[in-house]
Order: sequence, then C-alpha cells, then structure tokens
Amino acid sequence: MPQDPRQLLIDGLRNAHAMEVQAREMMERQIGRLDSYPDVRARLQTHLRETETQLQHLDTCLAEFGESNSTVKDTTQSIMGNMAALAHTVMPDEILKNTFANNAFENFEIAAYKSLLSLADLAGAASCKPHLEASLKEEQAMAAWVDQNVDSITRSFVRVAEAA
Ligand code: MG
Ligand code: FE
Repeated sequence: MPQDPRQLLIDGLRNAHAMEVQAREMMERQIGRLDSYPDVRARLQTHLRETETQLQHLDTCLAEFGESNSTVKDTTQSIMGNMAALAHTVMPDEILKNTFANNAFENFEIAAYKSLLSLADLAGAASCKPHLEASLKEEQAMAAWVDQNVDSITRSFVRVAEAA
C-alpha cells in the first residue's frame, strides 16, 4: 500500500527517537566506567545532555503531526542493537571498542538526520527542519571529536595498560 512522504517522515522521526534512546543508554553505560578517561567522560556527558535535547526536538516535530509522546514506540533496530552489544563488552580494551562503537553510532545518526531532512523537504514540513538541523550539527561535532581523538584515546589506553 502506498505511503505519502508525510507518513514516511513520521515513521522516520519515530525511528530516530528510538535511535536517540539507544544513544542515551550507550552513553550512560559508558560514563559510569570511565574513571581512567576523564576527557572522554566529559565529552560524553556533554553529548548526553545534547541527546536529551535531540529527543525533545523529535517530540516537537512529531507533535506537529499530532503524534504525542506516548504514541512513540522505541523499537530497537538490529544494527543499533549490535553496536550497543559491542559497547556492553567488559574487556580490558573496552575503551577502544566503545570508541569504535561511538564512531559508528555518531555516523549512523548523521545519515539518519540527513535522511530526515530530505523527508521533511518532501513532506513540506519546513518547521521541522531547524530541529533536525540543530541535532545534525551536534552529531557532526561529536563524530568529529571521536575521529580526532582515536589516537589520543589509544595512547591513553596503552598508558593505563602499562600502569596496571
Ligand atoms: Mg543523537
Ligand atoms: Fe549522537
């Protein structure tokens, strides 16, 4: 059965809401275990606060279509589940695995928001776009931070391992 762009945008917004709930869980889990990596923890705490705002942006867009908060079902997408599972792993090198997972997750989010912006265009949902653009910028900043810090995090990991 054919679906109009408006319905496809609503579905996309719901999926993004589930994605952000997953992001929040991943970051909360990591923040509790980052005593040896205060810079990473500080950046994750900042992005966790941004993520709360991103959820509000999505709620605002959904509300414009008469979709209330309570109708949002946060179904886990398998790819996100896999990345979250990776971030679960308690291993000596979990800081590295979490960094790889964060790199993947932030880039997943970038693609999701770009796609939502296209859908908002096609659905004529102009008022939704500033919300999506604000979140996209935050995901791009976070992805850039992870990318720029792979080297320093790895070097810190080696220092921690050598001191253990
Ligand atoms: Mg996000
Ligand atoms: Fe993010």
